[in-house]
Amino acid sequence: MTSITSQTGGLADPAATTARLTIDLSAIVENWRTMRALSGEASCGAAVKGNAYGTGMAEAAVALAKAGCRQFFVADANEGAALRKLLPDAEIFILSGAFDAAMPLLVENRLTPVLNSLDQIAAWTSAGNDRPAALHIDTGMNRLGITPAEAVEIAENRAVEPTLVMSHFACADSPDHPLNAIQIERFAEVRGHFPEARASLANSAGIHMGDAAGFDLTRPGIALYGGECRNDLPNPMRPVAKAEARILTNRVAKAGETVSYGATVTLGRDTRIAICGIGYADGFHRSSSGSGVPLRREVQQAGMGAIEGRTVPLLGRVTMDLLMFDVTDLPETLGVSGQWIELFGETIPLDDAARAAGTIGYELLTSLGRRYARRYI
Ligand SMILES: *Cc1c(COP(=O)(O)O)cnc(C)c1O
Repeated sequence: MTSITSQTGGLADPAATTARLTIDLSAIVENWRTMRALSGEASCGAAVKGNAYGTGMAEAAVALAKAGCRQFFVADANEGAALRKLLPDAEIFILSGAFDAAMPLLVENRLTPVLNSLDQIAAWTSAGNDRPAALHIDTGMNRLGITPAEAVEIAENRAVEPTLVMSHFACADSPDHPLNAIQIERFAEVRGHFPEARASLANSAGIHMGDAAGFDLTRPGIALYGGECRNDLPNPMRPVAKAEARILTNRVAKAGETVSYGATVTLGRDTRIAICGIGYADGFHRSSSGSGVPLRREVQQAGMGAIEGRTVPLLGRVTMDLLMFDVTDLPETLGVSGQWIELFGETIPLDDAARAAGTIGYELLTSLGRRYARRYI
């Protein structure tokens, strides 16, 4: 940890916040270098859509570009236009592609649309664009992309000459899933019809599949931001984001009393409680409640907090702006008003916090609300 730069993130006074988010840009860069090394001969780009998975596109993309990243993937033309202001020379791919209303932004900002359907190809070519475009081929996801048969036809009649052909894995997080090999084979076959185009298939998890999935360009996202990408490996990435809530006050409740909405937890002992200023409006999902959420019966472990490396359990339901933790077992100097309690970060892995909410690190990161004071280190 070298220097800390704070930014207001639109807050009138970041010092007045009850929610803070610390983003380690050097960890993002180091994670990208790890992904680049695993990409072998392929170039390594970066998915920075969704405000760089909630970590801040402006900061993350600029740091990645400084480290040598040249290809960036964003969701739509508005994200692309914002990124173009920061990176005049980068190659910026727009995953939602080209449609009439997006055309002016795409052209003005020299963005490269990923053409996802025959309609999009027609819209792009009939607009008379001679700028590069990428072509998405669906090899098993049934989401975006033309079929392999349509792609072969496009290659033959040269309806569009893509600078990049790409596809996307459906099951890369489960490396033994048979669909992975099928998708690699389909993609290898169809990219052969576009000898002039670069080819790209692998997201973070796909990069772990090795050379067969690497092609010319990889597109890691979640791994850059410290998240788990495979179900069968310990997470090798450095943590990037730390979310912390300010402890607003403490109270002691007696054995037999209840805590939070619905009175779903009955205290088994006299309990010192820390009341903290983050809730589901900040993207700390209600489904991580300590008790009383029917939809979370499947997941045994509720959300946790941590302070100086010690974890403490959530009590009862998560509310819109507040969380309650049982800090009885901490030394009495810890867990007190004015201190900060980690919700995920160094002590609690992002993906453990996500699992406690019945979701994945991707969703937890991209759900973080607008109240956080962001600090970049
Ligand atoms: C989001 C996205 C990626 C990055 O995926 P991760 O699993 O986060 O590495 C790559 N390609 C496409 C098409 C995507 O939508």
